[in-house]
Amino acid sequence: MDYYEHIIDLVGDTPLVKLNSLTEGLEPLVLAKVEYLNPGGSVKDRIALRMVEAAEASGELRPGGTIVEPTSGNTGVGLAMVAQQRGYRCVFVCPDKVSEDKRNALKAYGAEVVVCPTAVPPEHDDSYYKVSDRLATEIEGAWKPNQYVNPANPASHYETTGPEIWQQTEGRITHFVTGVGTGGTISGTGNYLKEISRGRVQVIGADPEGSVYSGGTGRPYLVEGVGEDFWPETYDRNVADEIIPISDADSFDFTRRLAREEGLLVGGSCGMAVAAALELAARCGPEDVIVVLLPDGGRGYLTKVFNDSWMSSYGFLPPDSTGATLGDVL
Ligand code: PMP
Repeated sequence: MDYYEHIIDLVGDTPLVKLNSLTEGLEPLVLAKVEYLNPGGSVKDRIALRMVEAAEASGELRPGGTIVEPTSGNTGVGLAMVAQQRGYRCVFVCPDKVSEDKRNALKAYGAEVVVCPTAVPPEHDDSYYKVSDRLATEIEGAWKPNQYVNPANPASHYETTGPEIWQQTEGRITHFVTGVGTGGTISGTGNYLKEISRGRVQVIGADPEGSVYSGGTGRPYLVEGVGEDFWPETYDRNVADEIIPISDADSFDFTRRLAREEGLLVGGSCGMAVAAALELAARCGPEDVIVVLLPDGGRGYLTKVFNDSWMSSYGFLPPDSTGATLGDVL
């Protein structure tokens, strides 16, 4: 019989899929690494598994322990899934701006969710940073993964994402493009690809305009999961050959086009990474092989990027593009 012992065994080994329509007129082969095919639906399953394994090995996380992390998104889902398998309790702390759907997804895996007010500064006792710190010290057997500091985050990509891409392209990859949030993906994957290719592979970060990685101060942008207003320890400042800033408008435009023109229903940071990959592709030749990593799926963004009214309210679509169309009536 052909089966897996647990859903966790399906983390990683995601496929590369060629982009066909968006790349029309461009010479290089552009391949998307489709991370929403991980069992928790995002690239973060990789770091969740590796961070838990490392904490078990070091003794920081013991049987019956509790995982406490300020997260509302993909990392929470990955951690909750691993915790389910291994019998850990999960307590996630998130600001109240996080949608109920996202909180319910975490609860569905058996996690507890503590909601904190968004409208308080980070140093306030009720801020979600402070509350998660307090819970981590108060709960007996608590362990905080802290994905922004934890070396197992980039290590998971050095050990899995990098080697997978090298093998899948038979060493022919010339450029790796990815968004930067904690910096774990670009640092781990980028350093592996640079080492194995003896510096031949170029590593390109995609960053929301205004974030620190592309020289900004952290000015607000709408694309989720990428860009920062501080420099995380998990980001290796020497890994990127280039950082390409991308506007929210372009990120969302390409996100929507990925669904319509490539059949890839993915999140906003994927559109951002693809926008950067295509900008790069326009400067490359027919021998080049560009791999762009798509971190998550689009289901979590149906009320935002894929909602015409939401898009119009921010000026990304003209106001008259909303409302019923002939297609809705028929
Ligand atoms: N896109 C999304 C949707 C994410 O959740 C993340 C993780 N914060 C990233 C991109 C960036 O990945 P990394 O943290 O490895 O830089």
